[in-house]
Amino acid sequence: MVVLGYTVGSNMFYNLAISDPRPKVGVPPGSWNQPADVGTMRGLMSGWCQEVQALASLVEEDECASWTLGKVPKLLSYASASGRVVLIGDAAHALLPHAGQGAGMAMEDAASLAEFVGHSTSKDNISKIMSSWSQFRQKRVEHLREISHGNTSDMTFPDAPDQIARDDK
Ligand SMILES: Cc1cc2nc3c(=O)[nH]c(=O)nc-3n(C[C@H](O)[C@H](O)[C@H](O)COP(=O)(O)OP(=O)(O)OC[C@H]3O[C@@H](n4cnc5c(N)ncnc54)[C@H](O)[C@@H]3O)c2cc1C
Repeated sequence: MVVLGYTVGSNMFYNLAISDPRPKVGVPPGSWNQPADVGTMRGLMSGWCQEVQALASLVEEDECASWTLGKVPKLLSYASASGRVVLIGDAAHALLPHAGQGAGMAMEDAASLAEFVGHSTSKDNISKIMSSWSQFRQKRVEHLREISHGNTSDMTFPDAPDQIARDDK
């Protein structure tokens, strides 16, 4: 289980994200913000340190939501054959959030797309340009996918020598 806490909205809100690897009943993939039971959430935290339990105790009844993490499998290309349609961001390559890079990848997609299109001299070669852009981005995104995948197991070690070595590192 992974617990992540951070401020959002210029410090107006505090978000507590708890990632629990067990499958959930009633939270279908592709849906989010399903109302969740605050008591169940606090129960998940019962074996954690006092600081985490104190944070969990501040969450109010209507503030707890549940959703299933999902990922988009590797696509053959982010661009259509004609180059007239491209997918960027999570639509192209949603990854598990364990590298904290999903939004960064979406921004890189947009910035690099502007570069590739900006250097195009003719509409006639748009298919080739988009295909090159897709290859450029896929290499980078797949590297991040490997990191995220690796972090998934690294972050969820049970208390044991592997976990102690990770914490020391
Ligand atoms: C718990 C968690 C922690 C994360 N932490 C990080 C982090 O630390 N750093 C990081 O870089 N990334 C992080 N991410 C990932 C990041 O949130 C996503 O990768 C990013 O938001 C993807 O941006 P996007 O614009 O592609 O998609 P989205 O942000 O999902 O935007 C898509 C938008 O389209 C709208 N939409 C959907 N369907 C329609 C429709 N039919 N018509 C009109 N609008 C529609 C949606 O409402 C949404 O506003 C995290 C994700 C999770 C779940």
